[in-house]
Amino acid sequence: MYYIDPHIHMVSRTTDDYETLAKMGCVGMSEPAFWAGFDRGSVDSFRDYFRQLTDFEPKRAAQYGIQHYTWLCINAKEAENIALSREVIAMIPEFLDRPGVLGIGEIGLNKNTPNEATIFMEHVDLAVRYDQQILIHTPHLEDKYQGTRMILDMLCDDSRVDRSRVLVDHVEEHTVRQVLEEGFWAGMTLYPISKCTPQRAADIVETYGVERLLVNSAGDWGPSKPTAVPDFMLEMRRRGHAESTIRKIVYENPLEFFRQSQNFKFQPPLEASEATTA
Ligand SMILES: [Zn+2]
Repeated sequence: MYYIDPHIHMVSRTTDDYETLAKMGCVGMSEPAFWAGFDRGSVDSFRDYFRQLTDFEPKRAAQYGIQHYTWLCINAKEAENIALSREVIAMIPEFLDRPGVLGIGEIGLNKNTPNEATIFMEHVDLAVRYDQQILIHTPHLEDKYQGTRMILDMLCDDSRVDRSRVLVDHVEEHTVRQVLEEGFWAGMTLYPISKCTPQRAADIVETYGVERLLVNSAGDWGPSKPTAVPDFMLEMRRRGHAESTIRKIVYENPLEFFRQSQNFKFQPPLEASEATTA
């Protein structure tokens, strides 16, 4: 079965990982901008990172038949530096027309501080002014519930925000309900040691259904597993779910969400009638 990983940080992955993902059925992915593991010192550092995301990674992915898309922002960890954050936000429009740029993300909160909230709202304003979709990072562990609530309140307070064009990521059992009930899309991040496991994600699907739910691997430079989406597919099969149910979550839902972005030009794998050779 084909699938799309809607949240994976391939800049921290090897070319071998692209090959493995392709062999497992990955045909598309989206890569949000995130923290590099250290705080960057200047706006030019972000400009180069955005070139990597919009130019180099799509080419690396294409060698394995994977279509690569991206999201741009300064992440919540570096948002404590308000001056640098504003320089980055002012620079982002240089890239918004580039092929494969789906919107603004992953923006959100990390430690739920006032500076993070300020820069979050300035990113939302940027997204609205440029008619961009939004991808949200919610905080980890003990900060998650409060941070998710703060994020949803800030989004709901801005009447310009179209909730059907916002994906709230890293949801867990205690945050998924409010995200879905308030009209947003929800993403479950499958991590080997924190966040969600494939088993917990399958439980959530069985509780909340398949509408507006996505699964992703995050696949970053920390302990993570880039093949976590196939692990979820296997778990769903083990439980006796129909292939159409699995396909809806790992393929059709990402397509439906991403198609709201004008830069999403996904080409589905060829069917027999479209192929140039039999
Ligand atoms: Zn991420």
